[in-house]
Amino acid sequence: MQRILTRGEIETLDRTRIVRVIPAAPDTFSIRAQRLRQLAPDNPIQDYLLLIAQLADAQQKVSEQSWSLPLVDEVQAAQAQSHGMSLFSAANAPRDTVWQHMLTALIEQLQQQELPEPVRHILQELADTAPEALEQQASALLNQQAEHINAAQAPFIMAALQLYWSLRVKAIDPMQVPAVTPFGLCPCCGSQPVSSSVQVGGPKEQIRYATCSLCATQWHIVRVVCTHCEDTKTIAYHSLDEGNPAIKAESCDHCQHYRKIFYLDKDPHADAFADDLASLPLDILMGEARFYRANNSPYLWQPADAS
Ligand SMILES: [Zn+2]
Ligand SMILES: [Zn+2]
Repeated sequence: MQRILTRGEIETLDRTRIVRVIPAAPDTFSIRAQRLRQLAPDNPIQDYLLLIAQLADAQQKVSEQSWSLPLVDEVQAAQAQSHGMSLFSAANAPRDTVWQHMLTALIEQLQQQELPEPVRHILQELADTAPEALEQQASALLNQQAEHINAAQAPFIMAALQLYWSLRVKAIDPMQVPAVTPFGLCPCCGSQPVSSSVQVGGPKEQIRYATCSLCATQWHIVRVVCTHCEDTKTIAYHSLDEGNPAIKAESCDHCQHYRKIFYLDKDPHADAFADDLASLPLDILMGEARFYRANNSPYLWQPADAS
């Protein structure tokens, strides 16, 4: 019979045997869409979850088209390796304009579908936006500069940036991922996690992974540590009284931030993006407790004057 390890025993396991980086699944957007549809009924933001499910389905379709992406710069990869940096720094790196073609493809996919009139209007506005203005929006989003963000357009622009960076990361050789990278950032694209999940089954049993909000790569982060500031002393867990027991908010008194954590042994289908978005009432609870979200949901942005 297999003995279940206690948390202390898990944390003292030889770290080198823990898989550090897990690439995103080829059907990651499709899984996200399915989960959003599953979570939508009776959710306070049901219609929005269904819209984002349509967007994630469109992302999957566009990801399966053929795109010509820039190759990894070997000199830059060697520098990242020697300086202990993430392979890419998506927030600051120059972007090939192919990301804008991906946005156009996404818009075209969505325009073929049944959509509420206000959403059609946003898509048309985006289609009519000049390339320079789109570049500015993309930079503002990746740098979380709330005052420069158009909240209505943001989820669609982010969706195109997710496509661009996830396809660029997919093309890299795993050996190019630097062995040591800054805490709390994706080893591949340098972005913040959307949430983290405690895995189930095989060698990943009870091991926690963060999921990149941009490229969906997962990387190992030990448990009971703040994923934002690395503090270990003031971590607490919060949940809704009637919520899914697989979802908690992991808060930190040191930096006053929180990020959600999903326990896959309690719900094996919990998805880093879909369940984060669908558990908006937990964000409201955390706001009332005066904690800040460590990073925006890539699919939900607040107008700057509302924060
Ligand atoms: Zn990433
Ligand atoms: Zn912290």
